[in-house]
This record gives sequence, C-alpha cells and structure tokens, in this order.
Amino acid sequence: MAKVLCVLYDDPKGGHPTSYARDTVPRIDRYPGGQLAPTPHGTDFTPGHLLGSVSGELGLRAFLESRGHTLVVTSDKDGAGCAFDRELVDADVVISQPFWPAYLTAERIAAAKNLKLAITAGIGSDHVDLDAAITHGVTVAEVTYSNSISVAEHIVMMTLALVRDYLPAHRTALDGGWDIADCVARSYDLEGMHVGTVAAGRIGLAVLRRLAPFDVTLHYTDRHRLPAETEKELGLVFHPTTADMVPHCDVVTINAPLHPETEGLFNDELLALMRRGAYLINTARARIVDRQAVVRALETGQLAGYAGDVWYPQPAPADHPWRTMPHHGMTPHISGSTLSAQTRYAAGTREILESWLDGTPIRDEYLIAGHGGLAGAGAHSYAIGTKA
Ligand code: NDP
Repeated sequence: MAKVLCVLYDDPKGGHPTSYARDTVPRIDRYPGGQLAPTPHGTDFTPGHLLGSVSGELGLRAFLESRGHTLVVTSDKDGAGCAFDRELVDADVVISQPFWPAYLTAERIAAAKNLKLAITAGIGSDHVDLDAAITHGVTVAEVTYSNSISVAEHIVMMTLALVRDYLPAHRTALDGGWDIADCVARSYDLEGMHVGTVAAGRIGLAVLRRLAPFDVTLHYTDRHRLPAETEKELGLVFHPTTADMVPHCDVVTINAPLHPETEGLFNDELLALMRRGAYLINTARARIVDRQAVVRALETGQLAGYAGDVWYPQPAPADHPWRTMPHHGMTPHISGSTLSAQTRYAAGTREILESWLDGTPIRDEYLIAGHGGLAGAGAHSYAIGTKA
C-alpha cells in the first residue's frame, strides 16, 4: 500500500468555504490543439470547489483510502523539522503545487528512500531537482495544459493593467479621490504597441491569440518555430533569441520553463536592450529574471512596469523587494489556481495516480522525467540540470 504525501496551501483565513460565488464552472473536455482534458475513472469532488488548500485535499482522500492507501496532507513544508520532512522519509508519492511548492531538493530526494513518484498538481516541475529525481528513479509528472489558459488570461489582465496603469486608479477610487490627472499621467492604450513572448508554448501561444484582436504587432522567440500557417494567421514576427526580440517590444511576457537555459535570463544587460518604458510580465518563474535588476530597471524608468505572480522563494518573505518596488502589479502565485483550474488539475492528479497505482502508463504529455531521463513533455521543454 502506498503512502501519498500531499503538500497544499493553507485554507482561507475564514475557514474552508461553505458557499461559493458561482454555482458551476464551465466544463472543458479538450484543450486548444485537441489534447484531452483529464480523464480519471472517477472524481470525488464538486467542480468549482476549493480543492488546492489543505481541507480540499485535491479531492483525493476517499479514492486513496478506499483502496487502502494512506494520504497525508500538510502545508508545513519549510524549515527544520517541518511536517513535510518528517513525512517524506517513508512516502511513496509526493504531490505539490507550484503555488506552494514543496522543494524536492537532491538532499530530500536522497532521504526519501521509498519515493517513486512526484506529481505537480499544475504545471512547472522546477521545484523538483530533476537530475536527482532521474538518478534515484523517481518519476516526475505534471498536469500539462490544466492551467495554461488560466495563466494566459492572467497575462492579458496584467498587460492591460500595466499599460493603462489600472491599479493606482483603482486605489484612488478606494481612497475616495477623483484625481484624474494623477490617474492618467502614466496611462496608455495597448493598441499599436509591439508585444513579444519569450516562448510560444501552450501559454505563450494562447497569449498571442488573445492579444491579436487588440491590433498590436506580435513577436515571439522559442527553441522551435511555430507552424508557418500559425505565424501567418497571427502575423507573428519570429526572433531567434530573446536578445534579438526585446528591442522591438513595448510589452514582453515570459512563458518559458525555468531550466538552465532560462535561469537569470533577464539580467541588467538584457533589460538594457529593452525599449525605455517597456513593460515586463513574468508568470513563468521568478528565477528567470534577476530580482535586483528588475528593481533597478523600475527605479530608473527603463521598465515602466513589472507584473507577475511568481516569486522566489515561495511564499515570498514580507521584506521581498518586489512588494515595494515602484510601478508593479504583482500578485501572490495565483494565476494557475483559479477554481476552474483546480477542477482540472485535481482531476489530472487523480488520473496520474490511477495510472501509477494500476501499473498502466502515465500519459506521455504528463511525463517530465522517467525511464532514466527526461521524458514526454519534459524531454521537449526542459533541459537537464534543473535544480530545486
Ligand atoms: P509549454 O511546455 O507548453 O511551453 C513552454 C515553451 O517554452 C515551449 O515552447 C519551449 O520550447 C519553450 N522554451 C523552453 N526553453 C526555452 C528557451 N530557452 N527559450 C525560448 N523558449 C524556450 O508550457 P506552458 O506554456 O504550459 O507553461 C510554461 C511555463 O509557465 C511553465 O513551465 C511554468 O513555469 C509556467 N507556469 C506558470 C503558472 C502560474 O501559475 N504562474 C502555471 C502554469 C505554468 P520548445 O518546446 O519549442 O522546445
């Protein structure tokens, strides 16, 4: 029988919800491009309910316990003697969400003698030391596509919020003010601007598609070029590297995974190549940008705004400089954890567990590492050397 250790974020401060703002979430059966949404044999949760926090348990308890397995759920994941470290020593499976990552470092993987499977309930497995996982024969899987569109929508929201300078104007409304000139002194239209994405995978391409009707010029860079018909349909300008692309853009959005090729990519030198007053949006991973370089660029005006939801470490400490830097639109790591997304990644986590427990293959598109190397989606999008 397996021990499944699930690390989730804390419940809402007021306790687990007993009612919700809406009664349903739309049912999504297929993603753009045709990939099937999760197809577990069953689920034990109500779509649209809070599943990603401790009491939600990703809806897994009845399923696992009915088969005789053990489920341990905790939010206590950091610091000496934390519940995660205590429970990890004999866990067979670890489940974690990028929003509240249980960092599976090489040391932790070495200490987890029974560990065979690490599931990311969401997308982005950079909190797992993939080299160590491969060395120790730990399969790594994530619920590919489950929240890609959720994040793309967040990026569109943040793009408009930064360019139009929405957040300070909203604060004026909250504060009882009517200071029009103050509200518009940094406010522009997106129309006519040049927008570029670093990576045009599931999220990046969805952002391009969603921004096309705003009458902007769209740019992208990626390791693999998109089909010619997609480039034509959206009028995309391809650039071989990020450094080639950013001088042409007013807005840049980062949508690549964190791995050795992308870590620290947006440093002082790259930021200096951007147009003065450009906006940078990063919902990918914080370590793709140099934390202090972003602060400096905002302070000098090289960047007119920075927004995103990814920080390092997570949760971000109260004195993290991105909380107080000028002209930012940061949120905690939430873009991929809407109630709609939770429905999909909880179902996908269940599907992965069912496959693994039944000894049937995990869908190739969910695999990041396995069979002694990067595998499935991971072999396409990651590079060896990813450190938690
Ligand atoms: P995909 O795997 O669909 O897309 C990733 C893309 O990045 C691929 O097209 C890949 O290229 C490209 N890429 C990889 N390395 C580079 C590089 N060095 N330069 C340029 N492009 C590169 O993933 P998603 O779009 O679904 O997600 C992207 C990332 O977004 C995730 O890895 C995760 O870190 C983050 N994310 C954040 C969430 C949040 O809540 N904030 C939620 C979900 C994801 P190719 O495959 O062509 O080699």
